[in-house]
Amino acid sequence: MSLISVTDLTIRFKTDEGLITAVEDVSFDIAPGEVLGLVGESGSGKSVTAKALMQLNAGNTVYDPASRITLNLPDQPPLDILGLKRERDMGIIRGGAVSMIFQEPMASFAPAITIGKQMVEQLQLHSHMTKQEAKEHSIDMLDKVGIKEPASRFDQFAFELSGGMRQRAMIAMALSTNPRLLIADEPTTALDVTIQAQVIDLMKDLVAEFGMGILFITHDLGVIAQTADRVAVMYLGRIMESGPVREVIRNPAHPYTQGLINALPKLDDLDAPLTPVPGDIPSPLERPPGCVFHTRCDRADAGLCRTTVPQKVEVEPGHVAACHFAAKAEAAA
Ligand code: SF4
Repeated sequence: MSLISVTDLTIRFKTDEGLITAVEDVSFDIAPGEVLGLVGESGSGKSVTAKALMQLNAGNTVYDPASRITLNLPDQPPLDILGLKRERDMGIIRGGAVSMIFQEPMASFAPAITIGKQMVEQLQLHSHMTKQEAKEHSIDMLDKVGIKEPASRFDQFAFELSGGMRQRAMIAMALSTNPRLLIADEPTTALDVTIQAQVIDLMKDLVAEFGMGILFITHDLGVIAQTADRVAVMYLGRIMESGPVREVIRNPAHPYTQGLINALPKLDDLDAPLTPVPGDIPSPLERPPGCVFHTRCDRADAGLCRTTVPQKVEVEPGHVAACHFAAKAEAAA
């Protein structure tokens, strides 16, 4: 059974200009011990989708009635996340069964409270540990994520740590309650390449050790290739393509995924020009009809693509693309 199941998720925001669609008809599952990469340019709806899993979106958020997010925890009945109306109920999930880490660790730490005190408070909120047990467990977690001298770091403030160490401390805090699901929103984007590789290795080790599921969000397909088991490619709030990560990267069926792959630097030909996806992602206020990607797609059909939303086509078992020509493209290839 999946750990979390997202079905037909559609999210709109009430604004002065009316309802704006940020996420439309998004469905995915994450199994225990699986890493799902959610990739796309900024503005594609990745973070809005992730925040929905913890009901962290702003007060002007409207979920379509058909939207479902179901969390399946061991030995518990399925939990309807969007049905949790009281902040107190959601508070039990946040930081407990579901944890989130962000691009900027300072967003996770209160600046005037030591890292250790924050970790102990969170642990005591979500477990029956005594203060001393929570302290010992926190130091152990700081050690596990590779922080040297964890006992003295425990008593420091977030601003006293280097960027890489802060990122590790945030991961330690997020994992200290042994969450079943970790949501990692661009966790390596602000790091230099060496630290980024260390954090990716660390997360893989932790998945192997704790068996949690991870939703890994990034704009960087290269990072996804290193980290994820499966990938979902988002554009303007919709999933364009999804499937096993190697299969999707080797045989992308959707023009947008193909564009993202062509934009990656090629290590075997450093002189090759980078070819970014042409144009910019439209504002959600000017959401194109039909296929939302048609304004940037060099294969768009003037009639069909501009008027009709493409259905999902299974191009290989478990590999799905939402393009009118996905199956034809695959046959041609
Ligand atoms: Fe391009 Fe049309 Fe496919 Fe959309 S449906 S990706 S516009 S070819």
